[in-house]
Amino acid sequence: MAYVSLIAACGQCGRPFASNPAYVPSLRLADGRQLIFCRACVEAANPERERRSLPPIVVHPFASEPQEI
Ligand SMILES: [Zn+2]
Repeated sequence: MAYVSLIAACGQCGRPFASNPAYVPSLRLADGRQLIFCRACVEAANPERERRSLPPIVVHPFASEPQEI
């Protein structure tokens, strides 16, 4: 078996972190770039989302685990 982790900078705080590319919270921009977000930034953003009546972003339990390939 083989595994892969995506190591890239968070689109909000810029801190590099390891994630599972299939489950990490992400956002595709109009120019085609895709940003990923670390758990701390997602959790920090959720109270503001709730204030705006937006559903909170739920981080998948495997978002930080290596992906089997
Ligand atoms: Zn972050």
